[in-house]
Amino acid sequence: MLGSIEKPVEDKSNRLGMTRVGGQMIADYWEDLFTARERGKQIVWYNGGALNPMFQAAGLAWCHGEAFAARLAAQRLEGPAQLAGAEYGYNAELCSYSRTHLGCSVLTLQGTEGDQTGVVGVHDQEVLAAKLPAPDFFVNNYAGCSTGQQWDGISYRVFGKQLPIFNISHPFLWGNKPDSGYLRGAEWEQASQFVASQLRELIGFLEHQTGRPFDYDALSESMTYIKRAAELRREGLDLCKAKPAPATFWDWIASVAPINFLPGSQALVDYFADVRDEIQGRIDHGVSAVKDEKYRLYFDGIMNWNKLGYLSRKFAEHGVAVLAGRYIQNAFWQEPHLIDTSDPILGMAQHYLLCPTNHGVKTLEHLALRDCEDYDLDGLVFHSTRTCRAFTGPQRLLAKAAQDKLGLPSIFFEGDVADASFYKDGILESRLVAMLEAIDVRRERGALPDGFSAFA
Ligand code: SF4
Repeated sequence: MLGSIEKPVEDKSNRLGMTRVGGQMIADYWEDLFTARERGKQIVWYNGGALNPMFQAAGLAWCHGEAFAARLAAQRLEGPAQLAGAEYGYNAELCSYSRTHLGCSVLTLQGTEGDQTGVVGVHDQEVLAAKLPAPDFFVNNYAGCSTGQQWDGISYRVFGKQLPIFNISHPFLWGNKPDSGYLRGAEWEQASQFVASQLRELIGFLEHQTGRPFDYDALSESMTYIKRAAELRREGLDLCKAKPAPATFWDWIASVAPINFLPGSQALVDYFADVRDEIQGRIDHGVSAVKDEKYRLYFDGIMNWNKLGYLSRKFAEHGVAVLAGRYIQNAFWQEPHLIDTSDPILGMAQHYLLCPTNHGVKTLEHLALRDCEDYDLDGLVFHSTRTCRAFTGPQRLLAKAAQDKLGLPSIFFEGDVADASFYKDGILESRLVAMLEAIDVRRERGALPDGFSAFA
């Protein structure tokens, strides 16, 4: 006798249509990069803050390491690169972004030198190594994470220390002096000037590498487009405070790549104007991002790129609109008013310092609790990103602050940025259900059930 047939779970998520447009823009970008060498472009590999306007002004093609690793993970193509990295000696506990990208470096070298390890099949090498063009030089722009700061240094070694490298150093913003705070205080001002001075030195490095004078007008133009796109992005994010929410955190995750590394252009501005307009249209017509929205949550942690679509459906299935998170509200040109488009260097330096892993817990707490209140959230979910200690380090303190100061419950689950093996679905499912039940109890009784803090 046949067992009962399991009914497919209804997909209650209603993702923005514009995310498909963004996906095409990103696909076109990578295809363009894969053929950049044939078009006579010099290629820079970089990590960390969005230096792409500098590279655009210098006439370069650019490969953002995290972005390429995230793209491979989102397409479930990270395996061959990670195998190559493992064979080369990179341990599974190493940040899976860097492990994937360093594996790509190994494959890229094999692709250009014909050296075979025997671990990764020829077809995989064709798909990956042959596509990512080798760099002419490296630039590292990583704030708040020692792995990020060393990542390009290791790539430099993989390429036999033959290619130039420029490293920008970012002071950590401890935020614990009496005058310190988000965007203010002597620490902030001094760090901003320190990084800005290094960006000016970077321009000299780029002039040396390209043999051309740097085009400051092109930088201003690129940053004018990026500033406008960032303003529109902020407007769209603010619209998501509406009830029910017209778009969620997952929609904004799909828009990370465009704001983070696509060229500053009218197309970028048009994209974010269309995203904002689609969200406004949903509000006007009463269309929600989650069918029967019942809960509103915060999501802390770098994105689990293997699971974007899955997590979006999973939370929606429980009537949860995930609406804010450190990785979205507090990253990616999130303070466009800092940019002076006629002289953007200082504002760019400040954005690189504002990396969400580069703040002491006082500032992180200020930002997280502010967003929990602004979006009227019911609780927090912490993606304890296994190989990213920079993000997970302060999460327990944030969970405690949310509970102590706002009475908000939270849960933790383990996963990773680009390694699906660390994700355990049963743990997220059981803890999420428990927290939602606790929220129901609080709505009925006005208080969380005893002992719920054990979940935090
Ligand atoms: S550990 Fe985290 S912050 Fe550091 S490089 Fe990896 S993903 Fe980035």
